[in-house]
Amino acid sequence: MSRKTPDPMVPPVESENDRMVLDVIRTANGPLAAYDILERLRPSRPKIAPPTVYRALEHLIRDGRVRRIESLNAYLSAGQDSAGHSVVFAICDDCGRVQERHADAAVGRLTKALSVEGFKPTRPVIEMHGRCGDCDGLHAAGGKA
Ligand SMILES: [Zn+2]
Repeated sequence: MSRKTPDPMVPPVESENDRMVLDVIRTANGPLAAYDILERLRPSRPKIAPPTVYRALEHLIRDGRVRRIESLNAYLSAGQDSAGHSVVFAICDDCGRVQERHADAAVGRLTKALSVEGFKPTRPVIEMHGRCGDCDGLHAAGGKA
């Protein structure tokens, strides 16, 4: 077998709609709401309807290509090497930048602790709001000048 596959855990994109939605998310500077995705697709697909976008998002999330940021109700391209990992999102409330970090150990500890209590976690979501290093640097420089 000499055929190269980018990541064995991520199946190929199924439909043209999925591909278009993924392209919009990948070329965005930050997380996009479903409505923003719809608006960006309208110039090339004037008749595109919300259910088409939601269906594509569902497929892309299932395949690990896109992550949903629950607290922002928005969607973000998954990190290159994030397949199969638990992640935490660091969300800057100043500039809106969202960074994805692996958090397997932390989620593993939480899952274990909850399991002891009889709770069975199925979909861990960890999002931290705060201020990114760049924005914090700007604030610190402004404050001390
Ligand atoms: Zn920031």
